[in-house]
Amino acid sequence: MINSDYKKIKRVLITNDEIQRRISEVAAAITEEYRGKPLLLVGILSGVFVFMADLCRKIQTPSEVAFMYVKSYCGTKSTAMVDIVMDLNRDISNYHVVLVEDIVDTGRTLHEVDAILRSRNPLSLKVVTLLDKPSKRVNDFQPDISLFKIPDLFVIGYGLDFNEKYRELPYIAEYDESI
Ligand code: 5GP
Repeated sequence: MINSDYKKIKRVLITNDEIQRRISEVAAAITEEYRGKPLLLVGILSGVFVFMADLCRKIQTPSEVAFMYVKSYCGTKSTAMVDIVMDLNRDISNYHVVLVEDIVDTGRTLHEVDAILRSRNPLSLKVVTLLDKPSKRVNDFQPDISLFKIPDLFVIGYGLDFNEKYRELPYIAEYDESI
């Protein structure tokens, strides 16, 4: 049910139950693939913090978690620049890295971060994204796993913001850009 304090929520696109179901499936696949291997989950802040918390707790093999802070957005429009505000402070060459992102839109952020991390010679690198908007891509970047493909809408909730608000919503919703 949408609380009336949240007037800019147009509609719920993906419920928390649906999100949790898909995370369980993906966590099971990650568990299977990385069991017995040194696994590092690298999240791209800020939007990924909720997804990362649920994903890492459902993976049933030991992992470590690290974050980078990357900025590429202002309001609801993508900027052409990808700014690494906070980098990893560790060597990743002894880890299988799973790069975890909240949403792939134009693909610029992950294209850039993927290239930076590969240049640091991890044992392997895969990309998992909660949401994918394939219609907005400006390059050929493809995540290895995307939990949900969505149409070209601006979405909020479950960690994703509009100007730092709405991250606390348990579901993914369409933001009402009118007015
Ligand atoms: P890209 O570089 O792929 O264009 O954009 C990736 C970043 O843009 C995401 O990490 C996210 O911060 C932001 N972004 C893209 N689409 C949306 C959206 O619909 N809602 C929100 N809240 N952020 C988005």
